[in-house]
Parts: sequence; C-alpha cells; structure tokens
Amino acid sequence: MKMTQTYENLIELQKLLTIRFKLEEKIEELPKMLSSRREVLNRLKKSYLLKHDQFKKLEQNIFSHQKLMGELTLQQKNLNEKVKIVSTQKEYEHLDNEIAIAKRKEEEYRFHLLQDQRVIDDLRNALEKDEIAIKQQEEEIQKEDDRIKLELISVEKELEKIKKKETELTHEIDDNVRYKFERIVKNKEGIGIVKVVKNYCSGCYLTIPLEFINKIRENIGIQFCPNCSRILYYEESEDNIFSIEDGIEDNDSEFFDEE
Ligand SMILES: [Zn+2]
Repeated sequence: MKMTQTYENLIELQKLLTIRFKLEEKIEELPKMLSSRREVLNRLKKSYLLKHDQFKKLEQNIFSHQKLMGELTLQQKNLNEKVKIVSTQKEYEHLDNEIAIAKRKEEEYRFHLLQDQRVIDDLRNALEKDEIAIKQQEEEIQKEDDRIKLELISVEKELEKIKKKETELTHEIDDNVRYKFERIVKNKEGIGIVKVVKNYCSGCYLTIPLEFINKIRENIGIQFCPNCSRILYYEESEDNIFSIEDGIEDNDSEFFDEE
C-alpha cells in the first residue's frame, strides 16, 4: 500500500476513533445515570421501614393499654361491689383508696392511649404517602431503565459498525503503530496525525530539522513527532515546498535519538 493511502486511512481512522471513544464513554456512563435516583429510592424505602416498625410498636402499645384499661375498669367494678358490703370504716377507707388508685391508673393509660393514637394516625398517613411515592418512583426508574437498555443496544450496534470499518481501514497498518495511534488520538483531543507545514509540526509547532523532514517525505515508514508523538506526513504542494535555508539552522543531531 502506498504511504499516501496509509495517511488517508489514518485520517479516516482518526474520525472513526473519535466516534468510537464517544460511544464507549456512553456505554460506560449510561448505566450510571440511574444510580442517584436509585439512592433516593433506597433512602425512601429505609425511612418507610423505620416508620413501619414504629407503627407496629405503637399498635402493640395501644393494644396492651386498652387491655390494661379494661382490666382496671373491671377491678373498679369489683371494688365498688365490695364497698357495698363492707362493715368497718377501716375496710371502707382501704377499698376507697384502691378505687382511687385504679382510677388514676386508668386515666394515665387513657392519656397515653390518646397520645399514641394521634401519633399512629400521623404515621398511617405518612406510610400511605410513602407507599405511593415508592411505587411511583419504582415505575419511573423501571421505565427509564428500559429506555437506557434500548439505547445501550443501539449504541453497541453502532460501535460494532465502527469497529468493522476500523478493521477494514487498518488491516495493512502495523499493530504497534495502530495501538500507539489510538492512544495519541485519545490523549490529543482526537488529533493523532498532522501535516508538516513549512518546517514545523502543525500539531505542536515544534520546528523539525531538514533531515527528519526528508525522512518523512521519503514515505518509507511512519514517523512520529518527537514532541507531541503525533504521526507526521508531508503534503507535496506549491506552497509547502520546504526551503532548505529554513531547515539547516535547526538541524539537531540529538533530535534523531528518539526511542
Ligand atoms: Zn508535534
């Protein structure tokens, strides 16, 4: 294959690589899109469970308070029956005192019961609201997840097409060169191959010695810019004839010790 064709292929490959990197980035990012929403949903579920526990405990409390109050009512009734048949003042005072204690206890329980009932009503409302919110969010996340999965499939298809085109373009390019080129395109914002303009690299503006420019012009092998690592090529044209005077001054023998 002619070198000019190789350069053309590399320029085409550079376009494909830019598209591929974007697609690969998308494949990596898409599944993460829902993570913050899932976190919010998990927090909501956790808070729901806590409230639910609290609700169950209160329900238990209310039940046992009601039971105790029933027992106290019965106790008072029995004590009142006993009062009717007492024979001494002392006995009467004793029973009267017990009735008063039972009454006080019952009032205390009633107070707590009312308090618990208010709290449990609020909790019931909050739990209902949470259930609706959880269901809604789960449905939305599911919908979004389905959409993302479809998008991933289409992105992956696109990626396959790009990879196929890449293979067609690069079957004659050395694997090491291809690997190096890919890395340069990735690291240099999509530009991995540049022209030598006059006597400098148009990628990083490094002045290139005449001897090296001639090596590039000979089109024997792929040459990389020693500064920015991009592949260099030379386009023969009227306005790009390298003037020898420009180059000689910059000739630097150390320049060729690269790699
Ligand atoms: Zn350069």
